[in-house]
Amino acid sequence: MATRSRIRPGDVISHARMCDAEGIMLQHGMNYRPGGRTSILLMSVRRGAPYEDQTLDEGRVLIYEGHDIARTRGGPDPKSVDQPMHLPRGRLTRNGRFFEAAQAVKRGKVAVELVKVYEKIRAGIWVYNGVFGLVDAWQERSHHGRSVFKFKLEVHEGAAPTDSASPRDLPHNRMIPTAVKLEVWKRDGGRCVKCGSTKNLHFDHDVPFSKGGTSLTAANIQLLCAKHNIQKRDKIQ
Ligand SMILES: [Zn+2]
Repeated sequence: MATRSRIRPGDVISHARMCDAEGIMLQHGMNYRPGGRTSILLMSVRRGAPYEDQTLDEGRVLIYEGHDIARTRGGPDPKSVDQPMHLPRGRLTRNGRFFEAAQAVKRGKVAVELVKVYEKIRAGIWVYNGVFGLVDAWQERSHHGRSVFKFKLEVHEGAAPTDSASPRDLPHNRMIPTAVKLEVWKRDGGRCVKCGSTKNLHFDHDVPFSKGGTSLTAANIQLLCAKHNIQKRDKIQ
């Protein structure tokens, strides 16, 4: 069996690779402690994305929208009804589980609730945004007049959970805002700027974040393949 190589924040991956890395088939956007492991949220702020996720504070904060009821034959339009806390038989929905987890953090019952976040930037193209801490959750009226959940997550500055991050990964643990990712992807044509490879790409900080390089302008971000990314990292260390 091949070992799963670890995915680092900024890595560009396929859905299959993401599932392989997590060891589960990710079919839902909201995955609360799947198999007892770290929670996973899949986000998208692309035009036409089903939920209104937002990134704030220069990529440090993520506001993630809860999810609708499942569409059923003969049932209501999921976008027309309140996002539920409970299933019909009373168990918590995915919204409910994340909501309760956020309340536990707010009440100080647990120190932190870690969540890994992946973002879909194009059809079949995902980016690992790193580890966030779930810090708040609430329900609000959407502009359609129904009730939706909102979850607030902040970049987690500590070590990554379970899969033992080495300290040198930490400077990358800052999300590159979506607009910057899309601009870089388009400018670099979805290819490594050194060799043109389309495989194992990574959103690389030209000047590293740890050396004061910003995540906020495309001018400091480039696409590199794994080989060229590692070469560059080794040079910097
Ligand atoms: Zn390359």
